[in-house]
Order: sequence, then structure tokens, then C-alpha cells
Amino acid sequence: MPKIASLLAWMVAVPLWSQLIVHQPLDGPLAVSGELAELRNHHFHSGIDLRTGGVTGKPVYAVADGWVRRIVIRPDGYGWALYIDHPNGFTTVYGHLESFSDEIWQFTESEARRRGSYRLDLYPPKGMLSVDAGTVIGISGNSGASGGPHLHFEVRDQASEEILDPSAHGLAIPVDPSHPKLWALSDGRWRPAGDSVSVASWYDLAVTLPEQDFDVHVTDSLRAQWSLNRWSFDVQRGADAGLALGLHQQQGVRGFLIHPTPTQPAPGWRHHLDFPRASGRYAVAIHSGSARVWNGVVRVKEFEDRVPQPAATLRDGAVTLHVPARAFAWKQNMTLSAEGRSIRVTPDVAAIKPVHYDWVPHGIHDSLWDKTYLAVRDGRGSAKIPGIRTSDGAIRYTSKTCGSAEIRIDTEGPSCRFIRRTPSGSVLLQVNDELDVEVVRAQINGQWCWAYLDAKTNTLAVHVGEEIGTLYVQVQDELGNLTTFTTNL
Ligand SMILES: [Zn+2]
Repeated sequence: MPKIASLLAWMVAVPLWSQLIVHQPLDGPLAVSGELAELRNHHFHSGIDLRTGGVTGKPVYAVADGWVRRIVIRPDGYGWALYIDHPNGFTTVYGHLESFSDEIWQFTESEARRRGSYRLDLYPPKGMLSVDAGTVIGISGNSGASGGPHLHFEVRDQASEEILDPSAHGLAIPVDPSHPKLWALSDGRWRPAGDSVSVASWYDLAVTLPEQDFDVHVTDSLRAQWSLNRWSFDVQRGADAGLALGLHQQQGVRGFLIHPTPTQPAPGWRHHLDFPRASGRYAVAIHSGSARVWNGVVRVKEFEDRVPQPAATLRDGAVTLHVPARAFAWKQNMTLSAEGRSIRVTPDVAAIKPVHYDWVPHGIHDSLWDKTYLAVRDGRGSAKIPGIRTSDGAIRYTSKTCGSAEIRIDTEGPSCRFIRRTPSGSVLLQVNDELDVEVVRAQINGQWCWAYLDAKTNTLAVHVGEEIGTLYVQVQDELGNLTTFTTNL
């Protein structure tokens, strides 16, 4: 009984329709540099990027009363990030920060010291770090995988962790003036669609979307409907299954195929019905909300039935490629050629599920088996994947990238070079390696000190304060190659 009574009291006190955001996260009018649900490689953008005037150092405010539930510091991703829980069932997320408020930082640093770790994912006890609406929780920055100074801001459903639209919860951003656009592939080129288009199949039409809502009617009946104002992280891979890869490669814009691919999950954000299977001319209407995006005639030459990728194994020389079922948006005719340590996989398509490259090395000493990595490059970027020994005498590289690859051996630790000492009490070092780097230890005169490595600039900032004496730093790459760096300050 007491439980029910308190639940009722809570429901009365905090109506579900109460607005979440009562204080904006930044001063001044907000400006947007990245939209919600924007299509990125391998995911939808899960928040809104707010401009900070091209600089770091702006105060960042808690948008409502709550408590800090999670603190993350990592060299990539959101960099320095705070997750604040609010009593009405929402979480807000603040990413790419430069620093935290004193109170939050005190807790963070003592935990880092206690754990001896520079990569943190902390869950402070509830109520320990409580904040009010308008409390400065940190300073905006450019940490992690950001393309420039900004604040990444998110609203989530606390219970399900689903992503919600911040503008529907009180974030005061201007309405996006850009419009969704229809693109069509003809004669091998993706172009903006005119009033009528002629395509080989329904797979040759894609839309670029600034909005989260979108639907397609063919001859007055609904065929596809999309709504991204709430989604969960496990449907992210749907982003790659629907990506019009050629459009991205040719025009540099990310658009979605209007026709479903066989591997797209059927999550709440997208519904499909069958498209007409006969060739012919069709009246097509595309809307976003109540606005018309495109209205015209599509001539489809054929209906192309695409099927999911079956599991496949390809072998050439010492390399075996394992492709799991449904690894691609639809079935691909894969080829593998390997010559020595060079590998080529075609076609160059985005994998939704990782593929495995197994290599049986000949003529390299056993001590080097744990020192190899796969350098892989495709039409979207590159990746370096450390090898792992398998039980049947091979080295395995697990990657979402197909294209050209090369197996390399790395036995050297990262290079480490002094840059300068900053007025704010940090020593900056340039740390470079072929692979990702982890900070193992930083000490000033034998005392532990905080250090942050920014993966995109390869800059290590060691916080030494006013101290003078011996700085000692150890950094290590993903294959365990270690470098010790000392200098006298
Ligand atoms: Zn962002």
C-alpha cells in the first residue's frame, strides 16, 4: 500500500506532459550544426549539435533539476560527457565537453586515481552530484570524435534509453530551413530528381532528410513510412542497410533508399509495404509532416528482387574470409584475392555485420603473431584492426570494412614528443602510433597525475599544475607496444 500511495503522489506531482527543458544548455540564441537523426556512417545522429561560436570554453548548463548519473571520459566518441537523470523519466546528455564543474571533477579525478585509469565510465551514487536547472555542469569543448568545437546534446527516455527529439522537450532551436530532396540514379549518376524520373528499379531512388518524418505514396497508396522521433540504439545498423552508398560516394550526401532492403530491420521508425512489382509509370508523392517533398512520375524499368546475404566462406591462399548471413543490405557477389599480405575484397560495400578475415601466417616468428594488424581501406574510410589468435592456428581480424587491406606487423611503441606547457597547468605531448593509443601511467615526481589523450589530434594533456620536476609518462598501443617518456620540467 505505501508503495502505491507514493507512486500516485509522484504521478500527481509530476504530470507526464510537463516540459523537460526549463533552462537552455547554452547562453544566447541556440544555433544548430548537426540535426537529430542525420544519417552518418553506421548510425543516425542521436542528438543535436549546438554551435559554440567556433570556440571552446562556453558554460554548459543543466537543462532541468536532476543528478549526474554517468560520467564518461574517452579519447574518441563523445570525449568528455555527462549524463543527467531528471525525476520525470528523462536523461539529458552533454558531449564533447572540455571540462566538468569543480564538484563533478573532484569526484571524477578521485575515481580515476583510485582506478589508475584514464578511460572512465562512472556511475556516481544517486543524489551525490545533484544539479538544479541552470547549474553550470561543465565547459563546452571539442573532445572526442568531434569535427570542431560544439555541444552535442541529447534527450533520452531513462527507462528504455531510446533517443527522443530534444526540440519536442523544450530545446529552443530554430526550425531547419532546408528541405528533404529526392535523388535518382540514371546512367550511373545520382542527381536531384526533376518532375519525372526514369530509373532501372525502385532501389535507384533515395531521399536526403533534414526532418525525422517522411512517407512515400505510390499511386495514392502508402508504401513506405518513416519516423525517427524516437528510436533505440539496436536499430542503428538499419542506417547502413538503407544508405544509398553510391549517392554518398558521388555527391557527398547521405540519403536513404526509399525501397526497403531485405536486411533492414523492421523497427518502429520505418514501415514498408510492397512496392509495385511490374515495370511502368507511377505517380509518386513524398511528404514530410504536412509538407510536400516531391510529387511526380517515376518510370521504373524493372522490378528487382533482392535477397538477403547468405553466410559465405571465401578462400585465397593463406586468407579466408567469413561472411555471416545478412552481413550486407542484400546479397553481394563477393570476391576475395590475396597475394602475400595484400588482400582485396569486392564489391566495396558497407557491412552491417562484421566479417572475419582469418590469416594463417607462414614464415613469421611465433613471437610476432600477437603483433599484427589489418590496415583496411574502403570507399568511406579506413580502419586498423589488431589481430587475435584463433584456436585453430590462424590470426583473425574482425571488420565492417571490405575493400583493400594489408596485414602489417608493428613492434614499436608510440612516439612521444614534448610540445609545450600551458598556462592552465597542463603539459602537452604529441603521441603518435599506427594504432590506437592508451595512456598507462602519468606521474610528476612519482605522484599520479591526470592525463587526457585526444585521439583526433594525438595530443596528450598531462595535468601537472604548478609542479616542477620529473614528468614520467607511459603510453601503449593496441598491440601492447609500450613507450616510456620522461622529461624534466
Ligand atoms: Zn553530435
